[in-house]
Amino acid sequence: PVPVLTVDGPSGSGKGTISRLVAERLGWHLLDSGALYRAVGYAASMAGLDLSDAEAMTRCAETTKITFRDPKDGGETRVYVNSHDSTDELRTETVGAVASAIAAIPSVRAALVDKQHSFRRAPGLVADGRDMGTVIFPDAQTKVFLTASAEERAKRRYKQLKDKGLAVTLTSLLREIEARDARDAARPVAPLKPAHDAVLIDSTGMPVDAVVEKVLNLLRP
Ligand code: C5P
Repeated sequence: PVPVLTVDGPSGSGKGTISRLVAERLGWHLLDSGALYRAVGYAASMAGLDLSDAEAMTRCAETTKITFRDPKDGGETRVYVNSHDSTDELRTETVGAVASAIAAIPSVRAALVDKQHSFRRAPGLVADGRDMGTVIFPDAQTKVFLTASAEERAKRRYKQLKDKGLAVTLTSLLREIEARDARDAARPVAPLKPAHDAVLIDSTGMPVDAVVEKVLNLLRP
């Protein structure tokens, strides 16, 4: 089978950055599963749908067209929602909160399973999310659960959003991140938790390069 490395963990744990760098180093495909939930949440908000209407959210998950495109000149992967480049809109903490709310609906999660499996292509896949190792790719060869202290995660997120020119405060971010993590961990379906065979890495105070090396080392025989 095509090898899979799963990288799960709470928001701001560095999953996104680490997954991207590891995928680049290995020349493997990358699945940013959070972007799928964000895209559905964003599409639902734009359409003015009732976010608590499970049926409407499921239909939205089934019909929203989500595509990832790498710009020819290098640069970051762009995410298209129904053919519109929505990369910047998807990153806000508002969309993150909507994504977390709809991600608790089992039929929404079910609607996104095939799409996630389709990313498993040779020579390999790095899958970033909350349930990659537990639900979507339980047979993955290597599983990582990445954590960091809530303060550090809020600081990283703060820097990311600031760099994008988005107005946020550190205190409100910390509060939002903790609320989102609590919801992700408490939901009955696919809760945020390490797979039983995952390697736990606490990246608090660790430079990015060191975490990347640690993960790559897990893949070396
Ligand atoms: O990783 P990211 O912050 O983009 O994810 C946004 C939200 O999508 C998470 O808070 C979580 O509720 C949901 N999600 C999920 N399962 C995944 C990836 C993301 O439930 N595999």
